[in-house]
Amino acid sequence: NEVEPFRAAVHEAVDRLVGHWRALADERLPVTRPGRAPGATVAALPALPPEQGEPLDRILQDTWDTVVPGLVHWQHPAFLAYYPTGNSPASVLAELVTAGLGVQGMMWTTGPAATELEQVVTDWLAQALGLPGHFLHTSGNGGGVIQDSASSAVLVAVVAALHRASRGRWRDLGTEGRYRLYRTDQANSCVAKAARVAGLGESTVVPTLPGTARMDPRALRERLAADRAAGGVPAIVVATVGTTGTCAVDPLADIGRICREEGVWLHVDAAYAGPAALCPEFRWLNDGVGAADSYAVNAHKWMRTGTPCNVMWTSDRRSLTEAMSVSPPYLRNEASDTGAVVDYRDWQIPLGRPMRALKLWYVMRAHGLQGLREAIRHDVRMAALLAELVAAEAGFHLVTHRLGLVVFRLDTDPRTREVARSLAGDPALLLSSSTVDGRPVLRAALGSPLLTEATVHRVWRTIRRHAAPGGPTASE
Ligand code: PLP
Repeated sequence: NEVEPFRAAVHEAVDRLVGHWRALADERLPVTRPGRAPGATVAALPALPPEQGEPLDRILQDTWDTVVPGLVHWQHPAFLAYYPTGNSPASVLAELVTAGLGVQGMMWTTGPAATELEQVVTDWLAQALGLPGHFLHTSGNGGGVIQDSASSAVLVAVVAALHRASRGRWRDLGTEGRYRLYRTDQANSCVAKAARVAGLGESTVVPTLPGTARMDPRALRERLAADRAAGGVPAIVVATVGTTGTCAVDPLADIGRICREEGVWLHVDAAYAGPAALCPEFRWLNDGVGAADSYAVNAHKWMRTGTPCNVMWTSDRRSLTEAMSVSPPYLRNEASDTGAVVDYRDWQIPLGRPMRALKLWYVMRAHGLQGLREAIRHDVRMAALLAELVAAEAGFHLVTHRLGLVVFRLDTDPRTREVARSLAGDPALLLSSSTVDGRPVLRAALGSPLLTEATVHRVWRTIRRHAAPGGPTASE
């Protein structure tokens, strides 16, 4: 009987998780364990799997004894590195129910309600973000799909763009070294990776406008013309709303106009900043998105949703599904043959997929759009507070501050590096370091619902302490 022990173990797991969340909220746990040597978890685990099954409660106990102490706590209020990974009780509950139902919704026929729920929630979210109607399933030509990541969304967009640019020829002949992808050096690393994986090789790097990290539309036009003159075929431009480095926003309207004129696919990567458009005051982020052929946000970054949950929309689902569809006899079915249903296997790289929509549905319902907006506004307020503290401090320089991201440096580059190194050894908080215009910077992305003004002040005192003469040994 597997079921009764499961019931007890789930209760215990929930109690443990709630205890863990409380410990994070009270900052009774560190964010990291900087002294932990690589291999510590390997050393703590047996080299071979158990021959006999073990009780679930013992496995849970070992999770907390052996695994949890070796984790970086992304849900900690003082986790300020990279961009945040969302979560909420509704999201966790949905993951449990999704796993328990165990559906594999690769096609409508293998999960009719799973597919239709995904159509509905992606239409919901498109409308909530103010995206154009041609991205909705109800438009007939467009629609949304839940991918695992922004990386997958870019790759899928590249394949659809290749299909359209080559009028289907690439399916037989491959990329023939002809097709080009355009991005700035600020685009996330997943864009260059997608170009490589799709067989496009190195992408064309479009310069940014002087003094900004935003794509220069005039330079884009020049690059497109130069590539065409050299026999290349511009296939796709990837623009970013909220770059990873500094949360810069590419000028979508100008880029979109050029892409339309040139017949080039425009994909917008709004992985982090996209959800901010739930708030009317941040709708401007998407100005010009009407000309995009595809657009993607990570609900798992800034929408209280656990990873993975990327939502991607296209206004040209025919190019997407024609590019991706392979139909051996064992996948053929009457519903697909009618063309009246959505088969999500043709909207993604893998064949199989969990019922992805339940998580987004639970999150949107449990928080409501108001709750999701409030969460974003909370983080923006916390970031504004930190930015104010940085800007007011002698010896510190605010490099950029947008939405939940604060980027700063110290007086000199060696000082910035020194403070970054010192902070990296402090388990009480985690920032990331990067470079802007070739100079080292520190990057704090504020996105935890557990973050309070008191934590921001505490984080700031810690940063100052690491920057003070004598370093972090000086007491707070
Ligand atoms: N795009 C941007 C702008 C990002 O900031 C990130 C990650 O931080 C990504 C894409 C990659 O996201 P994913 O891990 O979902 O592939």
